[in-house]
Amino acid sequence: MPKILLLPGDGIGPEIVSEAVKVLKAVGRRFQIDFHFTEALVGGAAYDAVGVPLPDQTLQLCYASDAILLGAVGGPKWDNLPMALRPEGGALLPLRKKLGLYANLRPVVLFPELVDASPLKPEVVSGLDFVIVRELTGGLYFGPKKREFVEGEERAMDTMIYSASEIERIGRLAFEMARKRRRKVTSVDKANVLESSRLWRAVMEKLGEEYPDVELEHMYVDNCAMQLIRRPVQFDVILTENTFGDILTDESSVLTGSIGLLASASIGGKVALYEPAHGSAPDIAGQQKANPLATILSAALMLRYSFNLEEEARAIEAAVREVLKQGYRTPDIMEPGKKPVTTAEMGDLVAGLLG
Ligand code: NAD
Repeated sequence: MPKILLLPGDGIGPEIVSEAVKVLKAVGRRFQIDFHFTEALVGGAAYDAVGVPLPDQTLQLCYASDAILLGAVGGPKWDNLPMALRPEGGALLPLRKKLGLYANLRPVVLFPELVDASPLKPEVVSGLDFVIVRELTGGLYFGPKKREFVEGEERAMDTMIYSASEIERIGRLAFEMARKRRRKVTSVDKANVLESSRLWRAVMEKLGEEYPDVELEHMYVDNCAMQLIRRPVQFDVILTENTFGDILTDESSVLTGSIGLLASASIGGKVALYEPAHGSAPDIAGQQKANPLATILSAALMLRYSFNLEEEARAIEAAVREVLKQGYRTPDIMEPGKKPVTTAEMGDLVAGLLG
């Protein structure tokens, strides 16, 4: 019995996670899989209830589960707390680190039905299908930080550190992924100015020798940001470090029409974590306006990567596509002539197609 831990979190988190659960239960009925769900507190909701954003009990439940489905954390209410108590700094980052989730995978696929929802011209985005592999537990976000006064002036420092083994481990994952796709890896760095990028490039070059069947190209991050808008269909697997990946994944999400469509999987440890690529969207929380498809598609990734249930994952993806084909749209992807639906109605429609 696959044990799934639900961490709904803050803002729209609870609304979108319940739709994904609806869909997982429907898949369970259709394919006779008895998913077992447990729920725990995380983020601002946990801080309000017990005074910390990542309670020990939640962490223990994470270790005891087979996979984790997270909604989102954060919101203005908790923005002024010290970093260690804030939903992102005190829960999300430590959770990734403690679970050893060093790789974040974000498929960026444009459903043909949503070509007009993309801000780019149809001829530029049609056929878009790439995946970003982002290093998640190293680099600037985890390196030594300092704030100090020097000669009467305050200054702050963050450090971007990567070891060769950290680069090799994520690089290998990107090459393996490319082997199952169109066999091309674009390794994104800033090797013209950053020492950590020069090591990144050298390690990737050497690793590439083990994968002669995969094309390896290097691209500076500033150029990559531009190429994603200019000709995004050139990409198959984009591999990059933590901070660059954070920015490029958000940029990529809009290519698909809405950030509400982008799923993600954080893998590498014993228990993987699945979550939509967006945040807690406090501006629309509690209004049934959120698009639950990114979370539903994250649940599909869970079936694929944690439970090896490929057919079931594909069934969810096909149901999402069919609902979009039938013209149903949450407000973020609404177009003239389409049928508006709420968060819960979108979940019902996808689940309804599954059984
Ligand atoms: P956000 O992703 O929450 O929202 C950005 C914009 O996208 C908003 O206009 C929002 O309404 C919209 N949006 C996001 N998800 C949507 C969905 N499913 N359907 C429709 N529209 C959607 O980013 P933000 O506003 O920068 O951050 C809000 C809070 O979320 C902050 O506290 C931030 O720290 C947190 N955050 C959390 C995570 C996470 O939990 N993984 C990631 C990013 C931001």
